[in-house]
Amino acid sequence: MIRKFIHSMLGSGKKSAAGKLRVIPASAHNIRPEDLSDCALRVVRTLHEAGFKTYVVGGAVRDLLLEISPKDFDVATNATPDEVRRLIRRSRIIGRRFQIVHAICHDEVVEVSTFRGTANDDDKQQTDEHGRITRDNVFGSIEEDAARRDFTINALFYDPIRNEILDYFNGVADIRARRLRMIGDPPTRYREDPVRLLRAVRFSAKLGFDLDKTTRAPVKKMADLLLNVPESRLFEEVLKLLLSGHALSCIERLRAEGLHHDLLPLLDGILALPQGKKFIEQALENTDQRIRDEKPVSPGFLFAALLWYPLIENWTARKAANERPMPALFEAMTDVLEAQRKSLAIPRRLDAVIKEIWALQPRFDQRSGQRPVRLLEHPRFRAAYDFMLLRADSGEVDQSVADWWTDFQQVDVEDRESLLVEETKPAPRTRRRRRR
Ligand code: ATP
Ligand code: MG
Repeated sequence: MIRKFIHSMLGSGKKSAAGKLRVIPASAHNIRPEDLSDCALRVVRTLHEAGFKTYVVGGAVRDLLLEISPKDFDVATNATPDEVRRLIRRSRIIGRRFQIVHAICHDEVVEVSTFRGTANDDDKQQTDEHGRITRDNVFGSIEEDAARRDFTINALFYDPIRNEILDYFNGVADIRARRLRMIGDPPTRYREDPVRLLRAVRFSAKLGFDLDKTTRAPVKKMADLLLNVPESRLFEEVLKLLLSGHALSCIERLRAEGLHHDLLPLLDGILALPQGKKFIEQALENTDQRIRDEKPVSPGFLFAALLWYPLIENWTARKAANERPMPALFEAMTDVLEAQRKSLAIPRRLDAVIKEIWALQPRFDQRSGQRPVRLLEHPRFRAAYDFMLLRADSGEVDQSVADWWTDFQQVDVEDRESLLVEETKPAPRTRRRRRR
């Protein structure tokens, strides 16, 4: 009876109710206070000493339990943003609708949020006709804050002073079972915020967790809800997915759940071609490797790769219709980017990089005269060269051409001339191994 009551409260999406609180003592978990960053620990201590309930929450607790080093630390407290601001010297309030505080240590920012509640009165929480929450901005209790979070494993509160974890939804057991489970009634929670569909994919790929049956069941049916999410938020979420360090696995899971149709509809066509599939897989694997190596990854490069095959197809058709190659390439670029914008809107600020990477590709065919030197000096050469290597890996560019460019960059300036290809001669075959 009580369970039914709690379930109906959660299912309504309006009110929230926490599950049964489990306090996990130090002896039953592997987190130690010193696993937190100095900044996070200092923030929690300061607020705690001032009498506020304060915890590290969300992704950091989950990751520490899994012995993954957290990206960053979020703190939740019953102090209001103004109180936090007053207690933490280097801090600033950000956000308008729901204010949070950024506590700043020299090279780190810790996000401090006041426990959020779910408003009952329609003035404070509004949903659109699909059930998506468009406005809500009330403070609440820790129980309410837990119930608003997405997955049980993301709703754990770690208290470094008592060295214990507060677990309202059995998240620790789900971590141990490597299971991703939505808090509350999954269809309602997806309707409230369809981005949770993508978050389900991202966390299951990143952590290698299975989606719980009831969490997974509605996903395919609800994919269309993504059409209703503001463009910029959708883009940010897809970017998080691509930069998660598990992009390949994320894309595979997105396709398996049918979620890619409204985001990257062109993907099906590309992956149907063996060479296209190889190219995309290689691009995503390289991205994942760069993230593991803590090297920077350019979103422009990634989208240039995801849309390369549609671009070639469009360009080839234009050339076959007797358009001049370079103007045809630029027309094709506009077509492809506009077509993509109808689903997932890539922000226009990335257009310049994407187009430059694409536009430089035909120039790798030219290996005579002054042209290779000019290409080498182009500010976008490095990205364009890396992109060309990917094309070579998938068999689209002759490996000897890729090797030639690798050598050409490495030889001393005075030796470059010896490598240049005479206008009429075919490209020399080099036997040297390409350097990665
Ligand atoms: P990551 O390691 O990728 O940053 P994270 O769990 O910290 O993972 P964030 O997007 O940083 O994810 O969000 C922080 C926390 O806020 C989450 O752990 C979750 O508790 C809550 N949260 C974030 N987005 C949502 C959402 N759309 N719906 C409900 N809760 C959310
Ligand atoms: Mg986070």
